[in-house]
Amino acid sequence: MLNEALTSIKGIGPTRAERFAALGLFTFSDLICFMPREYRDYSRVTNICDLKQDDYAVIRVSELGSPKTVRIPRSHLTVTTVSVSDGTGRLQATWYNQAYAAKNVPTANGGYVIGKFDKRRGMKLLQPVFTSVIPGIQPIYPLVKGLNQSIIRNAVRIALNSCRDEITDELGESIRKEFSLMPKADALENAHFPQDAASLNAARRSIAFEDALLFTIMLAYIRSLRSREKGISFDVTGIKDEFLKLIPFALTNAQSRIIDEIACDMHSSAPMNRLIQGDVGSGKTVLALYAMYAAMKNGYQSALMAPTEILAQQHYKQLKSIFGEKAAIITGRQTKKQREELIGKIAEGKVTAVTGTHALIEGDVKFRNLGIVITDEQHRFGVQQRAKLGSKAATPDVMIMSATPIPRTLSLILYGDLDVSILNDMPPGRIPVNTKYVPQSKRIAMYRYIEKTVQEKGIQAYVVCPMIEDNEEMESVNSAEAVFDELSEMLSVRVALMHGRMKNAEKESTMEAFRRGEIDVLVSTTVIEVGVDVPNANIIAIESADRFGLAQLHQLRGRVGRGNMESYCFLLSDSDSKLVRDRLKTLTETNDGFKIAEKDLEIRGPGDFIGTRQHGEVSLGAALGADMNTLLEAHEAAKRIMKEDTPDCRRLIDKAKQKYERSYKDIAIN
Ligand code: ADP
Ligand code: MG
Repeated sequence: MLNEALTSIKGIGPTRAERFAALGLFTFSDLICFMPREYRDYSRVTNICDLKQDDYAVIRVSELGSPKTVRIPRSHLTVTTVSVSDGTGRLQATWYNQAYAAKNVPTANGGYVIGKFDKRRGMKLLQPVFTSVIPGIQPIYPLVKGLNQSIIRNAVRIALNSCRDEITDELGESIRKEFSLMPKADALENAHFPQDAASLNAARRSIAFEDALLFTIMLAYIRSLRSREKGISFDVTGIKDEFLKLIPFALTNAQSRIIDEIACDMHSSAPMNRLIQGDVGSGKTVLALYAMYAAMKNGYQSALMAPTEILAQQHYKQLKSIFGEKAAIITGRQTKKQREELIGKIAEGKVTAVTGTHALIEGDVKFRNLGIVITDEQHRFGVQQRAKLGSKAATPDVMIMSATPIPRTLSLILYGDLDVSILNDMPPGRIPVNTKYVPQSKRIAMYRYIEKTVQEKGIQAYVVCPMIEDNEEMESVNSAEAVFDELSEMLSVRVALMHGRMKNAEKESTMEAFRRGEIDVLVSTTVIEVGVDVPNANIIAIESADRFGLAQLHQLRGRVGRGNMESYCFLLSDSDSKLVRDRLKTLTETNDGFKIAEKDLEIRGPGDFIGTRQHGEVSLGAALGADMNTLLEAHEAAKRIMKEDTPDCRRLIDKAKQKYERSYKDIAIN
């Protein structure tokens, strides 16, 4: 049954199956492993008089009004309400654009209503559901259009029931005992349908442990395969000194240290697989230039992949200054003829240092002797894409540069297949971004300030929002579309909108227009995160900043302060929680990305960081929800198991390979 298609579940036809497919769910087994994104505790009744903002609550219904639906003038909204009292207070169960919900309101008193309490605009219970029993802890799954929680929950229930006997314990009895893990079938049951908080925690820990263990084993295995491959041994004698004469500044200590590490890797006959992490602006490009220069001096070509056209152009400028005629750029915009000519030159080895976007790895580009491949802003490049580029030569060195600082402890786990260098100081003279916490009450004043500064100083501003469009489940969050509408109306400067659902060409042309100064305020989602350089953009305002991880906020803040004027980052939040405010205050106190990442890890756990390794890459699956201790424990256990080389160990390696088969094949090529 594990491989049974979802369409064999009653109520799931081809159309609905497509929605499930959009979530990566095709079989019963996929469903069973599909972990809830969060849980809501509906296991106890709360009195209305004791409710706190944003509580998910179960309210006993002792008095019930009749539903009313009104249309809000000049908007697409209809609001349906029904008044509920429990004897301690009264509130309005409220639905937006779901007039049909009124049909499901019971006609008699008694029973319960569950939902999210919001007191900001009257006493409201949002997303209300009437029920005759207390529901207990409810799983909340990631959704796509066309699915809702109960459709998914029912499907999971059916899949679990039909497969229960087929779920096997991969880890074996002894590991399970040693680390007090639940049997797999119980763990899955409780992760989807928790009995109580304690069994939920134990279940999540058990599942995360297993995922993290297999993940670690797989990375260690890949690493051991790679170290047996034969790469190029470059002669690096004297190259650093030569290179230093070509660049206009002195290296920072960290840059110098990492160049030595790169030189050492390049000299070694095993292929380099190094990840370089450095905050935005810490000067990673020069490290790439060094490696490309060393390759050229040895008669090899090099490739530098950028995630966007704009970044590739920025790199190309620098390549020209060092490699002159031997530098080249391949983009998606060149004419067929230009491209063919360039491809010819690359194949003949007439150009040595090549940069570009995805166009660089498309089928027809063949290098004569590619010595090193560098990817910039790695999180936009999947393992698969790197593998494609890697396969264009025997075994080139691979270097990955990332601006996402990850705490050391965690990066040992996440990047166990790579050597990691940390660029932990900054070039001199950078003015830190002035970061301020802005409460809801000062929001409008802040936008007025931005308008005034734009008009008086001719600077530009970013406004970043956590979501593209409004979503009733997150009523308090300002979406990019809503803020764009609001600011277009309110401000007398040029406002534009950019988000991830726009076509690439459209995004790039908007970004281009912003760069040329034809847009004053760019409202966007986090699509601006990756290394774009607009020196005239001096202000960034981040809406609902509490929705982001600190590391991500820091990353966003790195978009400004690239010129030599003073720059500002405004963190907006309407949360009245002290915890939230304190968390955001970390950013107002330090500019060190690694310190911020440590703090983030401490407060929010490793999930956010692991998430950054997900885009088209090897995913840690359920370990996303794990705490740091579980990850470390699993990591230690994996290391021990790898050393033991027992039948248990070989079985787990096989299991890990099977689980990560697709990604593993890709990784193994490069
Ligand atoms: P990132 O790590 O974000 O890719 P870049 O490599 O783009 O950073 O460097 C940011 C800026 O700092 C560039 O303008 C670069 O020329 C400059 N820079 C890099 N290293 C140094 C240094 N050691 N001294 C002075 N300026 C430097
Ligand atoms: Mg960069």
